[in-house]
Amino acid sequence: MTQTDKDPSQRFLDAHEELAPDQGFRFACHPGVSCFGACCSALDLMLMPYDALRLRRSTGQPSREFVHDYADLTAMPGLGLPLLQMHMQDTEAKRCPFSHQGACSVYENRPSACRTYPLGRATRPGAQGVQEQVFIVREPHCKGFDEASQWNTATWMADQGLTAYNASNDRFMTLASALREMEDATGRHLSSQQTGMSGLALYQPDDFQRFLVGSHLLDRLEMTEGRRKDVLHDEEACLEFGFDWLELSLMGQDEHLQPKR
Ligand code: SF4
Ligand code: SF4
Repeated sequence: MTQTDKDPSQRFLDAHEELAPDQGFRFACHPGVSCFGACCSALDLMLMPYDALRLRRSTGQPSREFVHDYADLTAMPGLGLPLLQMHMQDTEAKRCPFSHQGACSVYENRPSACRTYPLGRATRPGAQGVQEQVFIVREPHCKGFDEASQWNTATWMADQGLTAYNASNDRFMTLASALREMEDATGRHLSSQQTGMSGLALYQPDDFQRFLVGSHLLDRLEMTEGRRKDVLHDEEACLEFGFDWLELSLMGQDEHLQPKR
């Protein structure tokens, strides 16, 4: 197999040095580094569902408006599972729309890819849960590697607040992997209605909550009264419910879980 035959994620894995769990690296990023802000342009930045949910806390927008202003709705190749790609500014520099004078204006809610850098995280769902491989992404323009702060994978992920992001991203990748297996085994693809409902459940929790109030969907999954309230009032709980529902409905475990408008 040649490099060009491989899928982009495999090419990424092949091109970077894997980091063992106890292996250390030096890195720091702060306004004092000479390259500060240099990396926030011309990015292929995919937004996972939890990335979009958190970014909206900074923009304060309804989900539809957020997607319109900041992202293109695309789909995982061959699967039809929706994915958002963040727009860069339509200028020669193609800066990230949240980059202001070199600083990140949404730092508290920046996406997982921005938090994880200079590491990269590849995951493989399996019978024992999600297996992760972590890589170090050394880019020549990044002077952060000359700084003194010492990290390993666990301390970096904790410092960057990645626990909730990684957990949600793992659910997304597990769902994608299960859909891929189903497609390979049965040739079944997501229908356009299923793609649309997946977008609603994964990227529009505010609209999904309104939809749930008028449907009987919550009655079809067993849950406590407390969780039901959380799903309707807390977007993170609603996204978790969205994953539960999609796992059941898209994988055909409950053919009757077709939402009613
Ligand atoms: S290039 Fe590296 S050190 Fe410079 S701003 Fe980006 S992440 Fe920070
Ligand atoms: S969200 Fe923030 S950290 Fe990420 S690319 Fe944009 S400005 Fe940079």
